[in-house]
Amino acid sequence: MAKTSKENSTSKNSPVDNQEQQDKSYISAHVSLTSSETEESEISIEKKLIALYSLQQIDSQIDKIRIIRGELPLEVEDLEDEIVGLQTRIDNYIQDIENLGVQVKEKENQIKESTQHIKRYEEQQNNVRNSREFESLAKEIEYQNLEIALAEKRIKEYSHNLSLKNEEIAAAQKVLDERRNDLEIKKSELADIVNETEKEEQALLNKSEDLQHFIEDRLLTAYKRIRKNARNGLAVVSVERDACGGCFSAIPPQRHLDIRMHKKIIVCEYCGRILVDHGLASSVNQ
Ligand SMILES: [Zn+2]
Repeated sequence: MAKTSKENSTSKNSPVDNQEQQDKSYISAHVSLTSSETEESEISIEKKLIALYSLQQIDSQIDKIRIIRGELPLEVEDLEDEIVGLQTRIDNYIQDIENLGVQVKEKENQIKESTQHIKRYEEQQNNVRNSREFESLAKEIEYQNLEIALAEKRIKEYSHNLSLKNEEIAAAQKVLDERRNDLEIKKSELADIVNETEKEEQALLNKSEDLQHFIEDRLLTAYKRIRKNARNGLAVVSVERDACGGCFSAIPPQRHLDIRMHKKIIVCEYCGRILVDHGLASSVNQ
């Protein structure tokens, strides 16, 4: 039954490329290993198991590529976010510097005004009628001098802040330049990897599709369903140390024996994954 479907699919897919041909002969080789010693039905089951397990290996590789490719754009995104953050910080510093410049200007004007006031008061002192008026003007002059001193103190503070902000801008700018450089590198890496993995993925997808022709629709649907529901995308697992390779539940000896017999497709009682024995799995992985 399965043999017929295999032959059909083979002819359906010809002409086949080299890789495809290799895969097919690879599976046939595995199948023919036992064909002389076992019954036809057992061959088909074993063939199905090998095809299923091979398909799982290929599909897992595709999953892996997609995960890797999924993470790289995140790294680029992180860098882009950081760059936006740095640019915003620099813009804020520039705004601060502008504000400080305005404040310095204001204080300088204040000093000018106070100086003019003082000049006027001193002139007035020359024309006073009594010492009380003179004292009053002297107090005004003293007050304006204090204003000047205070303004000068503020200018000094603002100038200090200004130079600090300039230093911070220079530091942020340096980091920004580095990040921009990193981003360029990351982006080109990403482009390379996407390009490369897309080719690899396509080759694997072709392999996967090819292998699917070895598996009857009912079984393939089950495989896809289990894979979709399994957290790690594993629908076919091997028995490792008397336990299911998917959920690690123990497998009773009789069931383990049944699995090794390749007489029927056996699923894990706990997680529903299709089980193959270690020997079959390692023969595929060779
Ligand atoms: Zn299980």
